Amino acid sequence: MTTEKGSISIHTENIFPIIKKFLYSDNEIFLRELVSNAVDAVQKIKRLGALGQFNGEVGEPLVEVKLDEKAKTITISDNGLGMTAEEIKKYINQVAFSGASEFVEKFKDAKDANEIIGKFGLGFYSAFMVADLVEINTLSYQDGAEPAKWTCDGSTTFEISEGSRTTRGTDIILHVNAESEEFLSEYKLQEILDKYAKFLPVPIKFGTKTNSVEDGVDEEGKTKYKSEEVDNIVNTTNPIWTKAPADLSDADYLDFYKQLYPFSEDPLFWIHLNVDYPFNLTGVLYFPKLKEDFDMQRNKIKLFSRQVFITDEVKDIVPEFLMLLHGVIDSPDIPLNVSRSFLQADGNVKKINNYITKKVADKLSELFKADRKAFEEKWSDIGLFVKYGMISEEKFYDKGKEFALLTNTKKEHFTLEEYKEKVSALQTDKNGNVVYLYTTDPDKQDGFIQAANKKDYDVLVMNSPIDNHFVSSLEQKLEKTLMKRVDASVANQLIEKDEKLESVLSEEQSATVKGIFEKAISKPGYTVEVVGLNPDDAPVTITMDEFMRRMKDMAKMGSGMGFYGNMPDSYKVAINGNHKLVSKILASGEEEQNKFAKQAVDLALLSQGMLTGAELTAFVSRSVELI
Ligand code: ADP
Ligand code: MG
Repeated sequence: MTTEKGSISIHTENIFPIIKKFLYSDNEIFLRELVSNAVDAVQKIKRLGALGQFNGEVGEPLVEVKLDEKAKTITISDNGLGMTAEEIKKYINQVAFSGASEFVEKFKDAKDANEIIGKFGLGFYSAFMVADLVEINTLSYQDGAEPAKWTCDGSTTFEISEGSRTTRGTDIILHVNAESEEFLSEYKLQEILDKYAKFLPVPIKFGTKTNSVEDGVDEEGKTKYKSEEVDNIVNTTNPIWTKAPADLSDADYLDFYKQLYPFSEDPLFWIHLNVDYPFNLTGVLYFPKLKEDFDMQRNKIKLFSRQVFITDEVKDIVPEFLMLLHGVIDSPDIPLNVSRSFLQADGNVKKINNYITKKVADKLSELFKADRKAFEEKWSDIGLFVKYGMISEEKFYDKGKEFALLTNTKKEHFTLEEYKEKVSALQTDKNGNVVYLYTTDPDKQDGFIQAANKKDYDVLVMNSPIDNHFVSSLEQKLEKTLMKRVDASVANQLIEKDEKLESVLSEEQSATVKGIFEKAISKPGYTVEVVGLNPDDAPVTITMDEFMRRMKDMAKMGSGMGFYGNMPDSYKVAINGNHKLVSKILASGEEEQNKFAKQAVDLALLSQGMLTGAELTAFVSRSVELI
């Protein structure tokens, strides 16, 4: 074979400097690309063997990554199908992209290496991100093939000559450039292989040198060390998502979870994804125990394409409300290498998104039906996903409404249907609306809860971070249903009935009482009202209107309700005209009246956790004085 020189057929000056310049931050993916090519080559020879198109010995498939720190080279070897010189020219030299001008044009705005490498089929060329000289040493499986060697120094010229390989397969030798010496580290390469190659379908061997203690001591009594080559297989070739669920035990799923997230608590349950039409996707999604710090738990789903790790940014592919799930998704059908906007518009991505939503809903429904008690026990963790899903995806709401649970202050769980059944009789108002009462803080709102319970009203607990939104969304979705926080008004007025609340006070007395309390409350934003409640209800109750409070809550959460956020707080002070304290106040002298009224209001504030600072101090000294 004679040495041949030629030009890589692209019609632009030199793409390599561009590759280096634009892709610098992502340059570790060169190893992913070259190892993937090696894996492909090995799988191709296996397939040719299976099809009877290759009659030689296929042998044990193997890909090896070798580091030579001294020579400053990284070598990726495989015993795959190899290439002839002709094939090198065809597959390597004619860089597979439509036009150089388009290429350069696109490069200008490229955000990351994946985008370019995938789009233009430049996998192999990513080698030039870290190497200034790349060699291919290869021997094709074909009968009578001669070994071939290709070298290229990152310019558009290459050299093909006779190679030295004696066995079938390919070595890619990277002469690492000065700026990329960080990759000449065993630790670094191991890290990259762990990230991208951990689940590749062919054994990946990484040769490293280690020093280990040898038995005994030397003449001077020092510990003897021996240097040895240790070959590690870095990957699991059959990760669980490639297997059939029927062949897997719970322990297998839990082991795999531990492998992915070594320091995490066991997940609650998991879903095995497996679909091959109209798109191809496999994977296992785990429901984790949720922690306070949600952000830490995001981006834990790993995306693979044919067992090659691609990214853990699965936004758009996994529905937003499932971003807290953990696990893996593997799909050759996700256009991994294109820009975000394209991804969003991609039909497959939308379908995958819908599929995952459906699978998750089906799984939850199955768990609910199979063992309601176990489902209820996990509800505090699952609930967040379900509620978020029901709020954000119409399709999920339709399924979720069958198994979403409402929990009351007695820790009883109900489906939406069951709950309506439970409270309709007592909690329907004069307009025919069923009023669901809820508390966001059972401790703080205890007085109100007890008052409601006294009327045999049920109170739901809505204290998770998402419940604010869930409450509004339920109110919109459920027909003739109103949601009211238990402290939105006094118990008698929570559910508007036709019956009149009679006060024993005359109109004149009511006005006097009102005046006394108005004088006693020195803070702005409080409106006093005298109402006829049960004699054993609280004498004074301070409430904030449901609508106003919700708007303020939303403003606090930053959802564009700034207007309400800026409004001063306004409270209603309901004086129970039927309480004996009120008669006592009416019968007292002016100075006492003021003192008692103040005391009664402060007690109400105190019971609601609203009495703080100087007001609390004043209250304490006034109380002492009264004793
Ligand atoms: P892609 O892998 O997407 O085809 P690459 O640029 O990574 O693009 O590789 C181009 C081509 O070079 C491959 O399709 C394959 O034909 C050939 N090739 C690359 N690496 C090897 C290898 N280790 N053994 C055999 N052929 C290879
Ligand atoms: Mg490739």
